[in-house]
Amino acid sequence: MLDVHTHLHPPRLFAAIRRWFAERSSWQIEHPSEPVAVATDLRAAGVERFVFCSYAHKPGIARDLNAWLAETSRRLDGYGLPLATVHLDDPDAAGDLRAALADGCIGLKIHEDVQRLAVDDPRFDPIYAQLAEREGFVLAHIGPIPWDQDTQQGPRRVASVLARHPALRVVVAHMGVPDTAAYLELCGRLPNLFIDTTMAFASDDLRTTAQAPELEAASGSIVYGSDYPNIPYPYCAEREAIDAVGLSELARRRIFSENARRLSPYL
Ligand SMILES: [Zn+2]
Repeated sequence: MLDVHTHLHPPRLFAAIRRWFAERSSWQIEHPSEPVAVATDLRAAGVERFVFCSYAHKPGIARDLNAWLAETSRRLDGYGLPLATVHLDDPDAAGDLRAALADGCIGLKIHEDVQRLAVDDPRFDPIYAQLAEREGFVLAHIGPIPWDQDTQQGPRRVASVLARHPALRVVVAHMGVPDTAAYLELCGRLPNLFIDTTMAFASDDLRTTAQAPELEAASGSIVYGSDYPNIPYPYCAEREAIDAVGLSELARRRIFSENARRLSPYL
């Protein structure tokens, strides 16, 4: 099992994020945040390898964050692999990404809401070109979900990125809720577009309405992600909820490992 969506942050940032969740949501988050403890939990749950990320919510911090992410991956002996972060208001975001990829990051995390930007911002073009060339992938949280369900035509933005960068691999987080149907339709036409399962099966806040037949048909485009450790339920809840859908063994194998290997040669 490969988990393509987890979070590790430097201690001060993690504490701030936990405080933010405590103030803004009813989520009770009781999992560890220290990287070795998180990795230990994932190993115990049967995860072969995981991808982790943080995000620069303001200018001036991306370089240090990326250095911390790459160093943390080395501390974990490569068991967890990092996604870089950039902030478009920094003077050289493309240079920041280049440095992060050279240091061991395997792609880029974008969070439209937290970073207050759009995934199709043209300033991402040189960044996406680098990622496509290096077989890195973009993991994108589109729109203000779960706090607001209006993504302002999120699928249109994602489709325009892939129209400009057809070789780029893009993962839309959280099954693209609430636009899952639109993404499933796009996935049928765009082989480099994926959606991840993160919180869409175990959480009431982000639950997908997609049913077994659609999920089975799109199983070549769905990758497993958990959002661990920022989840208000046990790690196994997401996997159990996916298992409860009743997919074929082939679809399960694709979702839990094969598609992730197609997404990234580094996994
Ligand atoms: Zn996440």
